Amino acid sequence: MHTMLDQERQRFDQQRRRTYQIAGAIGILIVTADVVALTFDQHLSWWVRLLYVGNDLFLIAISLVIIWLVTTYRGSLTMVEQMMFITFAAESLLFNGIVPPLLGQTIAQRWIETVNDDIWFLLLICTLGFHLFRNRTGVLVVASLYSLSVAIVGGQTWLASRQGADLAPGWWSLQIYGMGAILLCFIYVISRYRAQAQRLQIQYELVEGWAFVDMLTGLPNRRRCEQALQEAIERSRRYGEQLAICIWDIDHFKRINDTYGHDRGDQVLRQIAQLMRQTLRSTDLVGRWGGEEFILLLPCTGQAAAEVVVERLRCLLMAAITLDGQPVTASFGIAVYQTDDDQVSLLARADHALYAAKAAGRNRVMIAV
Ligand code: GH3
Ligand code: MG
Ligand code: MG
Repeated sequence: MHTMLDQERQRFDQQRRRTYQIAGAIGILIVTADVVALTFDQHLSWWVRLLYVGNDLFLIAISLVIIWLVTTYRGSLTMVEQMMFITFAAESLLFNGIVPPLLGQTIAQRWIETVNDDIWFLLLICTLGFHLFRNRTGVLVVASLYSLSVAIVGGQTWLASRQGADLAPGWWSLQIYGMGAILLCFIYVISRYRAQAQRLQIQYELVEGWAFVDMLTGLPNRRRCEQALQEAIERSRRYGEQLAICIWDIDHFKRINDTYGHDRGDQVLRQIAQLMRQTLRSTDLVGRWGGEEFILLLPCTGQAAAEVVVERLRCLLMAAITLDGQPVTASFGIAVYQTDDDQVSLLARADHALYAAKAAGRNRVMIAV
């Protein structure tokens, strides 16, 4: 689960880096065009042009730094994003908001600026704000920045109205900001919804995962084993693959519990699970069938090979787990898939073989006929 989340995070990280590289490159092109336009704009005084060009050069420099950082810096992107957010928010408030009217911008010019770039720049920054700040903080930060921007446009329109200017462009600007606010609400709601859906999906996968795991040993539980057995039987039926199963049961486990206590009994079960995980092939499935009974599925394995594997397991168990120098032993019943077998018949034969192994004196492997 952890690796899955890590992979997802890395993918998102990579996508963000690429987005910032592309956005930065496009931004630099647009701002460069603006520098050229400003240089030849005869309507503005030289010092206003100098100020705007200076600001544009600053924006280009910042964009270059960001592109360089997202390309070479392998650490957390959050720091870069915070830097972007603060710089661009200040930039938007100052150079798209407060400064132009102070330098004599009319509301008609404001309207052109609004549709040309101001609103897009602000929407981008706000979207970044939703990503950087979670939940309520995000809403608060974005709403503050947006309200401030709208207030500046509103204030400029109001001042212009007092001076008798045509109000229509101011009103259009405010309309655009209104639509932008609706768009932001949508972005927020959709991103919240997606985050919530992802959380639920992860929880669901966790719960579903645990529903098939035995809590004491961490082995697949009976439900999972039955499922796997059914799948294996269907494969054998369809493709003629060999299949062997083995049900095995610890000998005199009640005695172990009675002598050493239930906790020690639990510990033996966990030790056995650990031993199984270490020794079996990844294609073999061992699960806890119940109490002190286990099941082993050996796909693509015939009777002779199954006998070798299980016999090895029996010896391994005896050697690995001892109580007061006495080995913990188990009895094993093997059954091999035969044409027309189903789960019930195959399990019944394995169970029968296990019973025979117990009856024959325990600590042995028996094969069902
Ligand atoms: P046999 O050799 O015939 O299998 O004898 P046995 O004592 O192993 O068999 P029996 O079925 O009489 O007893 C099984 C015992 O396993 C009884 C039960 O309390 C114990 N047991 C079942 N599940 C657990 C468990 O999760 N933890 C512990 N500590 N004991 C368990
Ligand atoms: Mg037993
Ligand atoms: Mg038993």
